[in-house]
Amino acid sequence: MKHIVRMALVALAIPAVNFALVNPAEAAAQETLSQSYRESRRDDVAYQKIEPIKAFDNLYYVAPGFVSVWLLVTSEGLILIDSAQEPYVDHVIDNIRKAGFDPKNIKYIMITHGHLDHFGGAARIQELSGARVMAVAEDWDLIEQAGSRPGRNGAPAPRVPKRDTVVKEGDFLTLGNTSLKLHQTPGHTPGVMSAEFTVFENGIPYKAFLHGGAGARDGLAGAQQAVATAARVANIVDIEVGVMVHSWMETNTYPNGSIFERAERLKNRKPGEENPFVDPRSWVRWRNAASINAAKTLAAEQAKAAAPK
Ligand SMILES: [Zn+2]
Repeated sequence: MKHIVRMALVALAIPAVNFALVNPAEAAAQETLSQSYRESRRDDVAYQKIEPIKAFDNLYYVAPGFVSVWLLVTSEGLILIDSAQEPYVDHVIDNIRKAGFDPKNIKYIMITHGHLDHFGGAARIQELSGARVMAVAEDWDLIEQAGSRPGRNGAPAPRVPKRDTVVKEGDFLTLGNTSLKLHQTPGHTPGVMSAEFTVFENGIPYKAFLHGGAGARDGLAGAQQAVATAARVANIVDIEVGVMVHSWMETNTYPNGSIFERAERLKNRKPGEENPFVDPRSWVRWRNAASINAAKTLAAEQAKAAAPK
């Protein structure tokens, strides 16, 4: 996966006077903890295997560092949001146990979009648990395509889940005391799934929104979809918790610290301080930045389409 964040980072990391002197060590020194999982330490498997994070009473981060896997706990079992990929699937399963839950109790696996880092563990976790796997139709196509051709560097084709539950705009997933409103938010892929749901801390509810993948891809069509998606997401109001599918995010990191900066603050929180994952202003800033970036990508794609061949 290529993401625009790399360009933004380079731009930030280069002081105007000595732009020729930037080296990788310097760049690493300037990246945030959350960015390190995508940048300087992306291939460091041991580093990626982080402990689970309890963000809310009913929401845990159980993934490696570079891609999110969120575990949503309900009165009737578990919902897993994304599944990471090899070699991290055992780590995800271990983290679910470390967090105090039985992976066999997963009832649903929601795939936010059809890129391997999100769906790559779904087949194994489905076998383990018997969970239903949910994705939008267009991204079931992507998953099936990925399963039918060799992986990178001649690796065997990744194992993929069989097409199971097909999600459409406005569907609800209800399990026990928990209900998620599902959205189709295409742009990053043709079939991104996003979700509105409620997280709790000490019984206090907060409105959360999981954006399943921002950052336009797939040329002009993807950019047009991303602009339309951004406009629709802007109409979903009163979001207090932005749930990210990566600790870094395309086009800009989550303002005011991303997942691991917030997790650190949560660990060191003093009595009476609010949960650092509750941050409605950062959500709006991120959403606006994603919208501006989608518009920029669309303009660039339109210019490319109009240029003489
Ligand atoms: Zn992706």
